[in-house]
This record gives sequence, C-alpha cells and structure tokens, in this order.
Amino acid sequence: MDVRTFWLAGRPATGDSSLTVTNSHTGQAVGTYSVPTDAQVEEAVAAAAAVTREAAALPVHVRAEALAHVSRRLTERADEIARLITAENGKPIFWARGEVGRAISTFRFAAEETRRWSGTAMRLDTEPAATGRLAYVSRVPYGPVLAITPFNFPLNLVAHKVAPAIAVGAPIIVKPAPATPLSSLLLGEILAETDLPAGMFSVLPVENSRASGLVEDPRLPVVSFTGSGPVGYSIMDSVPRKHVVLELGGNAAAVVLADADLDWAASRVALFSNYQAGQSCIAVQRVIVEETVAEAFTGKLLSAVGGLVTGDPLDEKTQVGPLVSEDAAIRVESWIQEAVAGGARLLAGGGRDGATIEPTVLADVPAGAKVVCEEVFGPVMVIETVPSVDAAFASVNDSKYGLQAGVFTRSLDVAFRANRELEVGGVIIGDVPSYRADQMPYGGVKESGVGREGLRSAMEDLTFEKTMVLTGL
Ligand code: NAD
Repeated sequence: MDVRTFWLAGRPATGDSSLTVTNSHTGQAVGTYSVPTDAQVEEAVAAAAAVTREAAALPVHVRAEALAHVSRRLTERADEIARLITAENGKPIFWARGEVGRAISTFRFAAEETRRWSGTAMRLDTEPAATGRLAYVSRVPYGPVLAITPFNFPLNLVAHKVAPAIAVGAPIIVKPAPATPLSSLLLGEILAETDLPAGMFSVLPVENSRASGLVEDPRLPVVSFTGSGPVGYSIMDSVPRKHVVLELGGNAAAVVLADADLDWAASRVALFSNYQAGQSCIAVQRVIVEETVAEAFTGKLLSAVGGLVTGDPLDEKTQVGPLVSEDAAIRVESWIQEAVAGGARLLAGGGRDGATIEPTVLADVPAGAKVVCEEVFGPVMVIETVPSVDAAFASVNDSKYGLQAGVFTRSLDVAFRANRELEVGGVIIGDVPSYRADQMPYGGVKESGVGREGLRSAMEDLTFEKTMVLTGL
C-alpha cells in the first residue's frame, strides 16, 4: 500500500514513520500515511510565520481564485473523495456524498465572501473634538491558525477552517484526527494546485501526544478546535493568552409539540438520530414530546426507525452504517445497557454487531443516565413525554450543552418564544437540531463551545478589528 504524503508548507513530504487507517466495517486497512517528524513540524510552523504578512496582503482575486479552484476540483473528484470518506470513517456513501457537496459549497461561499470582505469608514466628527477626523476600520488576521479537527466530518469540518482562513489571508496548519486524516491529505493535494504562497497551508497528521507542541507554539496565535469538550477545554486552559475557538459536543434535543406535523417530525427525528450512526454533534439524542401526541408520535417514530436501512456503508441505499470503531460501539452499547439496567424501556434496537449499533430508541430513562446527560455519539435516542411547552423548553435547557435545538411547531409565537428561551446557539423551527447550512453562523453556548463557524462568522473569528484614524480632513 502506498504511503500518503502529508503537506508541509504547500509541498508533499514524508517523515520517518507511518500510520495505517482501518475501515471499521471491514476491519481492512484503507490507507497508510506518513507522520511528520518534529523537525518537519518546526519547518511548517516557521514557514507559516514567515508568510503571515504576505498572506494578509494577498490580492483578493488570488484568494478568491484559489478558493474557487478548490471548489471546482472537489466537484470533479467528488466520487473519489466520497469513497475515501466512507473508507476511512465508515459513514454510508450517501452521507459521504452529502459531506463532499457541503465542502464544495463551503469553498464556493468563501470565494464569494472574500470578495465582499472589506473595511468600513466611520465618521468621527460627531464630536467637536474630532472634527476633520475619519476612522477606517478593517479586519486583520491574528496570524497563522492551528486547526484541530475531529473524525466525524473529515472533509467538511476541515473545509470550515481552511476556507475562511484563506478568505481572510491567514496561513493555516491542519492537524486532522488520527482515525481519519486521508480526506484532509487529499484536500492538501488540491490546495497545492493553487497559486497560494508556500507556507500558507500545511496538513500535519501528527499523533495527539505531539500536538501540544503545536498548540503551545506562540507563532500560532489562533487555535480553532472542533472535537470533544475535555480535549477542547484542556487546550484552552493550556494557552489562556491565545485566541481559541471551540466547537464542541452536545446532546441535542428535538421538541415535538401538539401542533406539529407528526409524520414529518417522525421521519426527520428517525433519520437524524441515526445519520452517520449518530456521530454528529447535533444528531438528535433527546426527543421531547408533548403528552397529547406522544402515543401517536411514538408509533410513527418507531415505524420510521424500523424502515431505516442499516448495513454496508458502500451500498448506496444504506442509511445507518458502523461507528468509527468497534471500541466506540462497545462504549455506546454499555451506555444503553446502563440505562436499561436503571429501568429504561427499550422500544427499538439496543443490539451491536461489531462496530454497528442498531438504531436504538429508549423511553422512561432514569435521570442521570449517560444516554441523557452525556453526548452519546451513537444511534441512540431517548424519548421524554412532557405536559406543556413550558416543561418541554425547561427540559431542553436541563443540559450542560447548548449547541442547537429543533422545535416542531406551526406556531410563530412558539417559534419566537423558543428563540428567546432556549439556551443554545441555534434554534431550528420545523426541523431537527441537526440542520446546518454551511454559510449560517454555527456554534454553541454552555459546554458546547465558544466562537462561531459558518463562513462569514469564521472569518470574523479569525480576525480582529484594526482602526486607522485619518487626521486633517
Ligand atoms: P476528540 O476531542 O477526541 O479529537 C478532536 C481532535 O483533537 C483530533 O484531531 C484529535 O487528534 C485532537 N486531539 C486529541 N487530543 C489532543 C491533545 N492533547 N492536543 C491536541 N489535539 C488533540 O474528538 P473526536 O472524537 O475526534 O470527535 C468527536 C467530538 O467532536 C464530539 O464530541 C463531537 O460532538 C465533536 N464535534 C463538534 C462539532 C461542532 O461543530 N461543535 C462538530 C463535529 C464534532
């Protein structure tokens, strides 16, 4: 098996060791990649630091063309990349194709947004003392970005960091998840085809134990992290003076109120509790149903869950595939068993075959069970029946997390109330919390993180406002 190169300051490189990626469905090796040495990591950081000013001054048409090129090449190679994502991550090809489509859009949005990225003039002569003065306010990159990304969207979550960095003119070093680095290495290959200056990007698949050197390096003033809370907060604690963006986990809730379209709600909740085997930070985990429709909704939900196609991730019809590893599935299985031992009713699923967990529905789950309080990151949902809208919203907020919430209602009043009262970064009315358009602001409150992604928001997050005052006008 060929050893894949990594990307050091825009060019391919190999280190002196390699690691292998395994497909969780087949147990087969799907690729081997070279791991950078400490000296190569140092070279990449030095190159990023050296190109910082040149990157910030890159003409907009150069940045826009590089971003558009990536979007075009992802389109041309979409099938190959989707197969690679499925191979390394285990997600069904249907979802992998969706992920590639989203990355194509992410780079296209960035190409468009960078053209609109401009400073503003502010008159200061509103006060007599400032007569004859004008401020020009522009956004300037803090400097090179360290992007640390998780396994569950190995292409699009990398795109969500690389595209805005290029759009604002910030060098970026990507440290992908060890389980799924191949998609980001392929993205590096496409980035290397552009006219971006050397040093503008590196993709360094270093082991976790060696990532802290990158995190602590003062030449990388921004750490943009997507992953789990414990790792994210330990990074933030280790570099309190850096600008740290944390996109963390959740136990997202879907609220189904009495006026909802129950067929639509059931089909969406069934699918988006189980998409990518539940390995999404906004997969539906908690289903909070108003009691007058609970029986009718649960019947429809169980029938929709029963209709999901589980199996080989390379089969175009498969909707639910394996988790990223058998270890991950064993953990999820143990959480289901803990809930059942505590008195929960198993309405569907619960079984495990290797890395695959059956789509699982639980009810009457005891308070404090991990499947409710923690992030399951597996195809498991928990149904809770509540007497009122008040109780439903209180239950959504009874969580340490706050990423997104979905509310199935037809009432505009309730929609605005949800927006006022739910302690989350995004409220999705009429759909599941799992809905995300890649250009919209996206991120959490509470322990789901700080900072925002989504093209424009990420561009703002990677930059600071710099003010120039013109005198004597
Ligand atoms: P993880 O926290 O285990 O790993 C994330 C990244 O951090 C990986 O690249 C990993 O190699 C790296 N890492 C681990 N230890 C490190 C260390 N000591 N120093 C530096 N880097 C280190 O997360 P995961 O299992 O890959 O991904 C799943 C998690 O990601 C879930 O909690 C999920 O909710 C979260 N997530 C959040 C979002 C979001 O946008 N909010 C999106 C996707 C996933």
